[in-house]
Amino acid sequence: MDERDFYTETPETKQATYICPKCRQASEFQIRWLRRTKKKGIPPGATDLEKVKFAKATDYLVRVDIQITCPNPRCRKRFDIPSDQTVVLI
Ligand SMILES: [Zn+2]
Repeated sequence: MDERDFYTETPETKQATYICPKCRQASEFQIRWLRRTKKKGIPPGATDLEKVKFAKATDYLVRVDIQITCPNPRCRKRFDIPSDQTVVLI
């Protein structure tokens, strides 16, 4: 059983502002996230260890996008989203 079996996944987008490392232009981006909502009950066939994990599980958001592209037409640099925050506990 995978941890994902504990959750219902819903895609969502969040707006964020990042500065391009090349041209220094600040732009707004629509960043894709996946909301993992804990299921009402544990899936059948879970082991004792999985039951413990399920009990501790909480809803969270995980970031899907890793890279973004600068919208400046003279730049168009592709760069990593400058944030270590890829998971947000709710
Ligand atoms: Zn740029």
